Amino acid sequence: MELNKLTAHELIGILNKGDILPIDICNTLIGAVRKKDQGINAVVHFDDKKPVERCKALGNDKSGALWGIPIFIKDNICVKDELTTCSSNILEGFRPPYNATVIDKLLCSGAVLMGKTNMDEFAFGSSTETSCYGATRNPWDPERIPGGSSGGSAACVAADEAIFALGSDTGGSIRQPASLCGVVGLKPTYGRVSRYGLIAFASSLDQIGPIAKDVEDAALLLKVIAGHDDMDSTSVDMPVPDYPALIKQDIKGLKIGVPKEYFIKGIDPEVKQAVRSAIDKIEKMGAVCEDMSLPHTEYAVAVYYLVATAEASSNLARFDGVQYGMRPGQVTSVIDMHKKTRQQGFGSEAKRRIILGTFALSSGYYDAYYSRALKVRTLIKRDFDEAFKKYDAILTPTSPTPAFKIGEKVEDPLTMYLSDIFTISANLAGIPCVSIPCGFTKAGLPVGLQILGKAFDEETVLKIAHHYEQATDWHKRRPLT
Ligand code: GLN
Repeated sequence: MELNKLTAHELIGILNKGDILPIDICNTLIGAVRKKDQGINAVVHFDDKKPVERCKALGNDKSGALWGIPIFIKDNICVKDELTTCSSNILEGFRPPYNATVIDKLLCSGAVLMGKTNMDEFAFGSSTETSCYGATRNPWDPERIPGGSSGGSAACVAADEAIFALGSDTGGSIRQPASLCGVVGLKPTYGRVSRYGLIAFASSLDQIGPIAKDVEDAALLLKVIAGHDDMDSTSVDMPVPDYPALIKQDIKGLKIGVPKEYFIKGIDPEVKQAVRSAIDKIEKMGAVCEDMSLPHTEYAVAVYYLVATAEASSNLARFDGVQYGMRPGQVTSVIDMHKKTRQQGFGSEAKRRIILGTFALSSGYYDAYYSRALKVRTLIKRDFDEAFKKYDAILTPTSPTPAFKIGEKVEDPLTMYLSDIFTISANLAGIPCVSIPCGFTKAGLPVGLQILGKAFDEETVLKIAHHYEQATDWHKRRPLT
């Protein structure tokens, strides 16, 4: 039995029987990372002594929901005393003095932290090419990108170097790489999971969420990390449902909307076909699917790139050479030190975002751009409010294309920004959504189906995903790595 190929819920069953120990899983994963990651570059900080020590220290109390289960963490989530760099030179050597709340929750549940995964610098991107550690490769085709920005987390799960992983999603960074790597990725409702200790990109959009091999694992992990946190005033004080149990409930009679704005001209025909067949299948399983409209969808990319860059420019102001990370050697004054730190520390996409965001917020342009974008954001949210009066969920493709070639879009930021066209609206509206595998192209590249739901109704989204998954075997396919 190759333990690295199993899901967390399968491993929990075997651990409970006492047939294996946490150290057995840990050693198998260490072997898998050593063997495969050179060709994929999904894992950026990895010290195999630490997870081994953690396994030894776990003891025999198996009461934690994830006792002995290994997990990888995106490099923008703070782990005390462990390198946390957002794949940016500016945070070189940074070891946070505290844990993100999700990390404390994982540790309390008995999970074993394995290491940190590659990402686009500060989560700016859709391809994991802007990392200071170099691009991550898609395990299905190493000439292609894994998606981004949580490309390292998605790729290590797809390659069976990991059981599951945490990512973060500001405009699609969990769902798009999950789709392009053939795994499950869930962005929870804004406020469902604490952002404390997630290094901020755009604070009104960011959420941490699971990337897993199946929906049950995503549900299990969400249950562990969700809940109110005094350290994050935007986390919401609502009970956390028992997701793994609720996903088993029937989906017969659910009303599902299929928005026409998500089947536009530029969409890859093989993606369209796979998603259409998935919708048919869900309909045959007893849900009622209906064409509908989300009329403000066409503004989502423009609104997102104003709101997200504005917030990013403000959040990144703290990286000034004083408090965190690198500081250049030869400086003549404080201003010179700030300038050189930012010049040498940030990559070109980060600089582009800071410039765009600063422009959108500057006096004279604020009303024309930022404040207008906020108004249109409200219209986009209202589209969903209206739709969810009638529908329990909405089905769309996750990404307009399968994984593209490394280098194909890097010099053309506008085309790159369009990769997020189907994922961005959910962040602007704050609603939960999941991407699950729903087919493959002729070239053998995975395609993802996106399921969007009402705020704080993760259970419906996961339930539809789980039932579809049970009726198909896309999620069981693995790349030859
Ligand atoms: N690809 C989008 C961007 O570049 C979303 C990134 C994210 O969700 N972190 O901003």
